[in-house]
Amino acid sequence: MHSPYKKDFQAAATQASDESTFDSELSILRDVFKLLPAGVTVQDEDGEFVLVNDAAAALLQTSATAPAASQLSDRRETCLELLRTGRPAMLEEAIAGPTKQVFLTSHRPIRVAGRNFLISSSTDITEQKAFEDHLFRSAYYDELTGLPARRVIEHRVNSLLKYDNGQGRFALAFLDIDNFKHINDYYGHAAGDALLAEMAKRLGLDLRDSDILSRISGDEFVLLLNPIESVAEVEEFIHFLLQRLKAPFFIDQSEIFASTSVGISLYPEHGRSYEMLRQNADIAMYRVKNGSKGAAAFFDASMEREALARMKIEQSLRLAILEKRFCCAFQPKVDIRTQAVTGVEALVRLRDDDGVIQAPSTFINLATELGLIDELTHLVLAEIVKSIDLINDSFGPDTTISMNVAAKQAGNPEFMRPFAEAIEATGFPKRFMIEVTEDAFVTKTHFQDEILPIFRKLGVRISIDDFGIGYSSLSALADITADEIKIDRSFITDIHKRPRSQGILRAIESLSEALGMTVIAEGLESFEELAYLQAATKIRYAQGYYFSKPIFLEDLKLAAPRASEARAGLGSRPTPEARPAYARSGGYRR
Ligand code: C2E
Ligand code: MG
Ligand code: MG
Repeated sequence: MHSPYKKDFQAAATQASDESTFDSELSILRDVFKLLPAGVTVQDEDGEFVLVNDAAAALLQTSATAPAASQLSDRRETCLELLRTGRPAMLEEAIAGPTKQVFLTSHRPIRVAGRNFLISSSTDITEQKAFEDHLFRSAYYDELTGLPARRVIEHRVNSLLKYDNGQGRFALAFLDIDNFKHINDYYGHAAGDALLAEMAKRLGLDLRDSDILSRISGDEFVLLLNPIESVAEVEEFIHFLLQRLKAPFFIDQSEIFASTSVGISLYPEHGRSYEMLRQNADIAMYRVKNGSKGAAAFFDASMEREALARMKIEQSLRLAILEKRFCCAFQPKVDIRTQAVTGVEALVRLRDDDGVIQAPSTFINLATELGLIDELTHLVLAEIVKSIDLINDSFGPDTTISMNVAAKQAGNPEFMRPFAEAIEATGFPKRFMIEVTEDAFVTKTHFQDEILPIFRKLGVRISIDDFGIGYSSLSALADITADEIKIDRSFITDIHKRPRSQGILRAIESLSEALGMTVIAEGLESFEELAYLQAATKIRYAQGYYFSKPIFLEDLKLAAPRASEARAGLGSRPTPEARPAYARSGGYRR
């Protein structure tokens, strides 16, 4: 039982403890308020600060100096305005000064004890803001050059088109740096990047506010000239830009010369959408690239027909790959002393939509450009594997089998590693020889260091194709570890009549000898050329129409049913009349 006495005592005690609890709670609240991570302030009807916690003080005190004073007065004005309307608000506040802090402040008018106050709570969103800014910039601006990205110029052109009242005229120029890949390979990617940035600066120098320059990819820029009065005016300006770009760029202590090809389309004559105008400017640029480069051309209808034809070839190439409509012609490599066939080179052929056999010159570059070359090379390898019995029958079981690999592929480990595996999987990797042009060795790719060793391990040999017409100098040969060097046909043609080519031949020959590389002459066509090589050089091997055009093995089988005959060679000293049986087969057929 409780006594009433006790009850009174308890009530008094509770009241006393309520008071002390209240005090202690108040002190806790005060501390919590003081230390809240968010900056909290309470302002009265006059905008004066009644309560300011530490975080808010820090935020507003940065402004105790001059810029801060404006911060305080801004806050006062906001307060008066919000108390007047009675509405809450969420506002961003950027703090002036070096820290560049940004706060998000939530303001809420409250009424306490018959008076109006504004309670404001601020959170530091500087980092989030910087991240958003970064996202925005990377979506709309190119990091390297600081230029607007493709979607900005596209948006601008589309809005010009949308609001055009039939009077608007503008020009879209498509600019592409000539041989940028070589610049990148030769000077390195950092220099390539610096060149792009410098290029962007030069291009942007004399633009009007209403023009836009944008980098749309790698070395491609699109320039919107808006508005324009006449074609002549555009022509003059682009000419002036081209001149400016021709001056050397000083990058990394190198003097780099870069020219640019430009194609221009005009609105409304050449298209009524961004895509159409850009595409037509691109077509005009392509025409310049295939011609003199470093110049400009306006789009015209004949170019469109050309582009359509090109697209048709593109389509049929894709289809041919899909349908595996490729085959190989084989051309023997011959020992010019014994006339024995020591190897064969597989040369790819395409059977087009109409069944006509096409030479690689009509599709290899395009296949490389379109990224189809890797697949094509695997098809060639498959063709070799399929034909291996015929190859052995026709040329002998020990002949090497050469395959061509484009320089671009040779430097790409993602292609070369699986390719090496595929060669190993044939079961006769040691018979393979890979022909690459010297570009693969001089440019800074992975070929020499990373890829060569893989092939060496498999026993696959390496040959430098078309030597003498690429970018390397003779001295570069010293750094190259290859097994064979093929001297380009341009040196061999009429060699017996050309003292300069003879000198070059001797130099290549002695260097190759010192480096332990076999030398082979390409494109040997006449008896006189052969006689010169035999009499005046130590070159042992040759390949060319003189011995045989590239041949289809099935043809050979039909022409010479007994394989041993085809293999027999020429006998001792060749004469124009005495040639091997396979010499008469043609490379291309219908
Ligand atoms: P290449 O590797 O230098 O092959 C030699 C080219 O010269 C072949 O042309 C051959 O038919 C031709 N030729 C040989 N002897 C003579 C001659 O005495 N006189 C003349 N005028 N020409 C001769 P083809 O077959 O048209 O191939 C051209 C190029 O296409 C090849 O040059 C090679 O770079 C490329 N190619 C061929 N097949 C492939 C392949 O499978 N992959 C890659 N990436 N390129 C290939
Ligand atoms: Mg070759
Ligand atoms: Mg060659």
